[in-house]
Amino acid sequence: MTPTTSQRLQRLNPRQQEAVKYIDGPCLVLAGAGSGKTSVITTKIAYLVQECGMSARRIAAVTFTNKAAREMKERVGQMLKGREGHGLTVSTFHTLGLNIIRAELKTLGYKAGFSLFDPEDAKALLRDLMNKDAQVDAEQINSVQSKISQWKNDLVLPGQALSFAENEDEQFAARVYEAYNRHLKAYNAVDFDDLILLPVVLLQNDPEALARWRRKIHYMLVDEYQDTNVSQYLLVKLLMAERATFTVVGDDDQSIYAWRGARPENLVTLGEDFPRLKVIKLEQNYRSTGTILRAANTLIANNPHVYDKTLWSEMGDGAPIRVVVNRHEEAEAERVASEILTRRIKESASWRDFAVLYRGNFQARLLELKLQHYQIPYKLSGGTSFFSRNEIKDAMAYLRLLINPADDNAFLRIVNVPRREVGPNTVEKLANYATERSISLFAACHELGLEQVLPTRATERLSRFTHFIDGVRKRMDQGDAIAAIRDMLRDMDYEAWLYQNASAPTIAERRMANVWILIDQLEKSLNRDPEEEADSTATETDGVEAAISRLVLRDILEQQAEEDDSDRVQLLTMHASKGLEFPHVYLMGLEEDLLPHRNAIEVGTVEEERRLAYVGITRARRTLTMTLARQRKAYGELMDCQPSRFLDELPPEDLEWEGRADKEDPDKKQARGKDAIAGLRSLLG
Ligand code: ATP
Ligand code: MG
Repeated sequence: MTPTTSQRLQRLNPRQQEAVKYIDGPCLVLAGAGSGKTSVITTKIAYLVQECGMSARRIAAVTFTNKAAREMKERVGQMLKGREGHGLTVSTFHTLGLNIIRAELKTLGYKAGFSLFDPEDAKALLRDLMNKDAQVDAEQINSVQSKISQWKNDLVLPGQALSFAENEDEQFAARVYEAYNRHLKAYNAVDFDDLILLPVVLLQNDPEALARWRRKIHYMLVDEYQDTNVSQYLLVKLLMAERATFTVVGDDDQSIYAWRGARPENLVTLGEDFPRLKVIKLEQNYRSTGTILRAANTLIANNPHVYDKTLWSEMGDGAPIRVVVNRHEEAEAERVASEILTRRIKESASWRDFAVLYRGNFQARLLELKLQHYQIPYKLSGGTSFFSRNEIKDAMAYLRLLINPADDNAFLRIVNVPRREVGPNTVEKLANYATERSISLFAACHELGLEQVLPTRATERLSRFTHFIDGVRKRMDQGDAIAAIRDMLRDMDYEAWLYQNASAPTIAERRMANVWILIDQLEKSLNRDPEEEADSTATETDGVEAAISRLVLRDILEQQAEEDDSDRVQLLTMHASKGLEFPHVYLMGLEEDLLPHRNAIEVGTVEEERRLAYVGITRARRTLTMTLARQRKAYGELMDCQPSRFLDELPPEDLEWEGRADKEDPDKKQARGKDAIAGLRSLLG
């Protein structure tokens, strides 16, 4: 029998219970890894619904990654029965923002069926804008993009950016920012950062909208609070200011997103903004063995602290932490794969009990090959996902264009896919024509004036394309939209195009199958009870448009395939592993320049890297294995690697080294040799 909420409450320790039951004002739970912060949030949601009689609709729980949101949803789902959980929002900040935007589209001045630009779309737009004046390289575009993102996260609007610009480069970025936002608006599109920024600006400036949302959301819970940025914090503050009914939980030692605008000082700001804030600290760790916890505590003690925390565990010491040194990166991958193969049997574990964590996605490539070699099932999070496959991006672009013909990015992606003999020159002239008249590319294709700038053959091809799309749109309006979409794919013979472009027929076949999976997904989403949608604050009228935009938006947000519950080894970056736990954890690449990362060493942000290592270590419940390579290919060359400085910061008595031919650093040994010779010389006079 599943336990009731009060039984679950009983299982928590007294401080956790206090955090769950405190509902009269703002509450901050500040505690180290594995101390049960997320458990407080999930239990508190059930408590609010079942014991306090609050409607689940009035509760919004927010966390940092989609994976974490899914896990939380699952945990809450086990506690709430039947319709109790209907309308509950458990999502990322971005999805919450998206829901607010969808509900407030008109107020915000957007048309229905708006587009969400993913970072690649945004980059393409920036490239166009920046290339107008001068040739720019990828690095300049990246730096402008991250500056704009930083401004948006810090709530600096285009009109204000210039006054914040500190040098010429930033002044340039500020001007691009202005043009970029104007274009987004013209395309009826928003970017990722807008998902938070737009709701905040709306709630700040529109008292009616603010009142609406305050009526809607009565209680907020925020997990991983240390990684909120300025605009995310403001969103919580605006929504909750009046009642001050929220619970946020976090751990400053796990702040690992400063590079994306996270402000761990938000923890301190909270105390200033809400003087009645109740702060609860948790100290018992329920996740890891004593050895793993000691390693984590000792490591993080090397960082300065805002709040002191001591974590202890009743789990006993457990196995020592293994540090495995390998000849090179391939040997490292081979070692991890073969160990998982044998240890699964030895520990009578499942594949899913193993997680391999690394600093960068590129580290997974070799490992994937080795896992495939041993036929070990695995799931890669955040790598090349379903939605970043070319065929899926093409299909999505068609869907986007169908619901929003003004989506120029979508238009550009598919106007010549499959081939319609529309070349870059035609597209450029079309784009100039459209820009001069401030209309979309699609609309421009319908204009008679176009014939003056383009040869007749080109205008004919363009209008054939737009008529084709218009025809599909018409069919969608009239009846079975999904059938219309399926026919569209057949009529244009997308499959033939895939066969022409694939190196083997089986590849083309798989790609086409992916496209059909996508359309099946769309059909399912269309027929789904909107009540059951995770983000049930959606108020948009349903229909195929809504279903497509849901799909487009969700997929851009999630950037990963449908959740796969099957039994697989988990491969993910340390960043993506936040909040999760696994019985057996492998941390790969414990080397200088990799962890800590070379860039971090150069710009002096090693403390953040140390927190990242802390996050990685504290994911492990029973065993932790760290691996490193003596040589690794980097920048096209085979480089010698040094063990990570973080290994020196761990308690040596808890580490069990393997494959270290010589426990001493050869440099140190040589230096000592020299000292000895010098000593002898001086003795001999
Ligand atoms: P992180 O900082 O990594 O996000 P956390 O503080 O959110 O960690 P949880 O994930 O909530 O920690 O809990 C860690 C583990 O401890 C989970 O397996 C959870 O079920 C268990 N746990 C939490 N509280 C208790 C408790 N009072 N008694 C027994 N187990 C608990
Ligand atoms: Mg947690």
